[in-house]
Amino acid sequence: MAKALFVVMDGLGDRGAETPLSKAKTPNLDKITPNCSLGLLYTLGAGQIPGSDTAHLALFGYNPHKYYRGRGPFEALGAGMELKHGDVAFRANLCTIDDNMVILDRRAGRADYGMDKIYATLDGMKIDDVTVHVLHTVEHRGAIVFSGPGLSASVTNTDPHEANQPVAQAKALDSGAEKMAKVMNEFTKKAYELLKDHPVNKERIEKGLKPANMAVIRGAGVFEKIDSLKDRFGLKAICIAGGALYKGVAKYVGMDVINVPGATGTTKTDLNAKAQAVIKAADDYDLVFAHIKGTDSCGHDGDFEGKMKMIERADAEFFSQVIDKFDVFVLTGDHSTPVAAKRHTCDAAPILFRNETARPDGAKKFTELNCAGGSLGQLTGTELMHFILDYLHKGHMFGE
Ligand SMILES: [Zn+2]
Repeated sequence: MAKALFVVMDGLGDRGAETPLSKAKTPNLDKITPNCSLGLLYTLGAGQIPGSDTAHLALFGYNPHKYYRGRGPFEALGAGMELKHGDVAFRANLCTIDDNMVILDRRAGRADYGMDKIYATLDGMKIDDVTVHVLHTVEHRGAIVFSGPGLSASVTNTDPHEANQPVAQAKALDSGAEKMAKVMNEFTKKAYELLKDHPVNKERIEKGLKPANMAVIRGAGVFEKIDSLKDRFGLKAICIAGGALYKGVAKYVGMDVINVPGATGTTKTDLNAKAQAVIKAADDYDLVFAHIKGTDSCGHDGDFEGKMKMIERADAEFFSQVIDKFDVFVLTGDHSTPVAAKRHTCDAAPILFRNETARPDGAKKFTELNCAGGSLGQLTGTELMHFILDYLHKGHMFGE
């Protein structure tokens, strides 16, 4: 049975005549490139600037305009929380506030001392008939899930997104969300009571750290059970990623997700460990999805050298081990994060597609420019997944 390896290097695409990808030394990719089909990916359609969450939904074959319900559920699923249909999930930040509820530091100094204990204190809170579940993820961050009847994600954030602002009052954006807003504001009140004299905060102050005395939340999304990749395409798929968001989107579409020790979702991630996990997964799955985050982080930092080095490291430590283990090998980005822009842009991401029966474009190197002349042309995220499905003999003909 045909097997596919689908690799996303986050924010891979770049701008300009010379890019981190075109300048990177990639001997392992260079070996296969002449036999590959190349193309460009407009993940959500030309002119759309993709978020990483909507981009991954599209790459997994799910039209985000139909399936996207906000980021919160992906963060919660990716952190390992169980969600029920109708639960509303958010991303959370522990922050430092003063007695007037004004935020002094949105990240409580980024010092994560005791933050797991503080998050645990908030876990299990009851507000009327709603139960609140909270889980610490990394640094000051966490995920929070409100579970109960009649909840809605049509609410504003309590996180004002900048310091020297008071913790925001949640507001309902439609009449069905009044209860949710009330519960969120009650959560803010109770969180302050629980955290202001919390023993961990006393310890933090003694250590010269800022107290983590409030949790502000953002990115509301309602969790809905949807048809899995197996239901829709008969595809048994697994996700190997460091970042919680990607694991969360993968879980949402019914992929298995494994935690690889050393896979951190940073530029320091253990790519050898990821390669070993990919090779192991090949035995049991039709599609192995692997995510490498560092390229995007370097793009956001405007770090050309760092982005290039991340691509070189992926070639030496990851692609060298995995490329020839699969019938279908696809490498792309979920969007472009050009170093000159330091943000996601609408520029297409390059696609490299290898299968021994596919059309060889004869290009010497995998670059944005060569991809622009590639035989795949321009695809959207959902189109690329259907392309992969066809090569796995899981596509469906329209008509007879
Ligand atoms: Zn991304």
